[in-house]
Amino acid sequence: MNPGRCLVVFDFDHTLVDDNSDPWVLQLLRKAELEVSTMRRSGTCWTDCMQRGFRLLHQSGITRETIRERLELIPLTNSMKQTLHLLSSHPRNDVIIISDSNSVFIDIVLSHHGLSGMFKAILTNPAHFDADGLLCVSYHCRIPHHCHRRCPPNMCKGLILQRFLQESKSEGTCYEKVVYIGDGRGDFCACLGLGRGDVAMARKGYSLLDMLTSASGHDELKAELVEWSSGDDLLKFFETS
Ligand SMILES: [Mg+2]
Ligand SMILES: [Zn+2]
Repeated sequence: MNPGRCLVVFDFDHTLVDDNSDPWVLQLLRKAELEVSTMRRSGTCWTDCMQRGFRLLHQSGITRETIRERLELIPLTNSMKQTLHLLSSHPRNDVIIISDSNSVFIDIVLSHHGLSGMFKAILTNPAHFDADGLLCVSYHCRIPHHCHRRCPPNMCKGLILQRFLQESKSEGTCYEKVVYIGDGRGDFCACLGLGRGDVAMARKGYSLLDMLTSASGHDELKAELVEWSSGDDLLKFFETS
């Protein structure tokens, strides 16, 4: 066992990057934006909506290269490079990403900014370009997860985080503390799974913060709640803690 270790978990959209990578890419084609939003309103899982969007991009001749160029323009959240360098320079920390985006998008953004080597794991929806150049994405959770917190069928971040902690433990890494940084409703379940001594960092002006402050009873947050806003404040937090 290796005591005293800290796991720092980053969400991707509106956390590591300062926008949402899926709509960011769909903006390449108005038809894809419209059709995906209609599908979404009818209750289709977001991953399936995005697969439809990728098919429309492909049919209209938008290439892998154009998608890559578009993703290279998505802004990182303020001070994110410094924050990640600071965190990964501490030998007690491991840094991971848990995201409902996809592996292709995250790899493109991280490698463009020289951040690829900083993460112990990137847990997201697996994606690849097929031989024809179509971007294919599939569910991270291949087996139904039955989460009572209404996580989407493709991904329960609470389950993913708990599984990561268990697997790490069985490999001899026991985390004394978990810090989870996120913004959205997809991060709620993972934050509620944190224990006393852990930290949930929720972005001001986004839904996670409201959900955590209004959660009660069985679903009450046990971890310490820290608000963040621009990203400069995240860097300050880690510099001083
Ligand atoms: Mg997010
Ligand atoms: Zn869940």
